[in-house]
Amino acid sequence: MRASEVRALFAVASRPEVVSLAGGMPNLADLPLADIAELTAKVIATEGMTALQYGSGQGRPQLREQIVEVMKLEGIDAHPDDVVVTTGSQQALDLVTRLFIDPGDVIVAEAPSYVGALSVFRSYEAEVEHVRLDADGLVPEELDETLTRLAAEGKRVKFLYTIPNFHNPAGVTLSLERRHQVIEICKRHHVVIVEDNPYGLLGFDREPMPAMRSFEDEGVIYLGSFSKTFAPGYRVGWAVAPHAVREKLVLAQESAILSPSHASQMSIEAYLTNHDWKKQIKDFQVMYKSRRDAMISALSEYLPDAEWNVPDGGFYVWVKLPPGLDSKTMLPRAVTGRVAYTPGTAFFYDGTGADHMRLSFCYPDEVTIREGIRRLSAVVSAERESVEIFGTTPQLDDVTDTDIPGPDIA
Ligand code: PMP
Repeated sequence: MRASEVRALFAVASRPEVVSLAGGMPNLADLPLADIAELTAKVIATEGMTALQYGSGQGRPQLREQIVEVMKLEGIDAHPDDVVVTTGSQQALDLVTRLFIDPGDVIVAEAPSYVGALSVFRSYEAEVEHVRLDADGLVPEELDETLTRLAAEGKRVKFLYTIPNFHNPAGVTLSLERRHQVIEICKRHHVVIVEDNPYGLLGFDREPMPAMRSFEDEGVIYLGSFSKTFAPGYRVGWAVAPHAVREKLVLAQESAILSPSHASQMSIEAYLTNHDWKKQIKDFQVMYKSRRDAMISALSEYLPDAEWNVPDGGFYVWVKLPPGLDSKTMLPRAVTGRVAYTPGTAFFYDGTGADHMRLSFCYPDEVTIREGIRRLSAVVSAERESVEIFGTTPQLDDVTDTDIPGPDIA
C-alpha cells in the first residue's frame, strides 16, 4: 500500500478558503434531515435490541429485498439471496478483489479508472491493464485485442473492472450496443465482469440504461451503493454475484467485519419504506444537472482552450489541459490559488494521465463552482507563463502529509 501522491495536498485543499472541485462527496443539503432523524430515532426506540446487535454476514433480508427493488430501475431481475450487503461498495470491491486475485494476476480496467478501485487492486498486488474509453465508454475492439494479447502472453486475466454509467472520472456512459459487445467479448475470453455502478440512477436527461447484469447473470458481479443516491455516511453498498461467488463473498465478508452495520441497514430500510426515495433521486438529478451546467458554462467562459466532455449524469467532468501543462505539477499552484482538483495521474495505474484533471461538480453550489473555475483559469495562465519562462513549475514546499478526510479522493 502507498499514500496517494496527492494526499498531502488534499490536507491543504480541505481548508475552507479553498474551493474544492476535487472530492466525490455528494450534496446532502437537500436531504430531509429532520425526517431521517425521526425515522432513525424510531428504529432505535422500537427495535433497538436488534438495531444495535450483530447481524448476518450477508445483510438483512428486508434490506436485500429492497435492494432488489432499487435494481429493477436498471432492469436487473435478481433474488434477495443473490445480494450481499457491504460497508459501501468500496468494501465490495475489496472483497471481490480478495477472492479473485493472487499477486501478479491481471485486472483489465478502463483508462482512466476510479482511484479507489486502483488502490484496492494495488493492495492485492494485481497488475492492471488499461483499455481506452471514448465518448461511448470502453472501446470493445480494444478490449478484445487486449484480452487476446494477454492470453497469448500467458497472463491470467481475472476480471474486467468497469464503471458503465457516468464514469468516475471520465463522465462517459457505455452505449447499449457496446454493453452487449463487452459481455460477448468477456464471455469468449472467460473473463468475469465487475460492473461498478454507484451513479446509474443519477442521469440528467433520460431513463437509466439497463445494467449489464440485466443481460447476463452468470458472468457479471454487480456492485451498487446508497452513497450517491442517499448518503455515504451509512456506508451501505452491495454486491450481486452468481451463486458460487456469492457464497465465498459472504465468507470473506464475515472474516473481514463479521456483519455489516445493523443500525445503518435498518435506518436505510426505514428511509426506503417511509420516504419517497424515487422522488428524492429525481430532485438530486435536477440539482446535479444545474451544477453540471454551471461548471460547463464556467469552463467555456474561463478555460476556452481546454477540452472537456459534457456528462449527462453523475458527478464529474474530465478536462484535458491546454498543451504543455501537467496537472500534477500544477496542483501546488492551484492550491495556493485556493482551488483544488484531482490530477489525471490518480486514475492510471502507471501514473500517466498528467494532461488531464478531474473536476467534480457534486459538492459546491453553482456560485462556488463558477468561482472555482475562475480561480483555476488564473492558475492555468500563471502556470503557462511559468512553463514558458522556466520550462518547469516551482513546487510548494510547505505541505505536510497530515491527516485528510478520505472522501476527498473518492
Ligand atoms: N465506485 C466508484 C466508481 C466510486 O466513485 C465510489 C465512490 N466515489 C465507490 C465505488 C465507493 O463508494 P461507496 O463505498 O461509498 O459505496
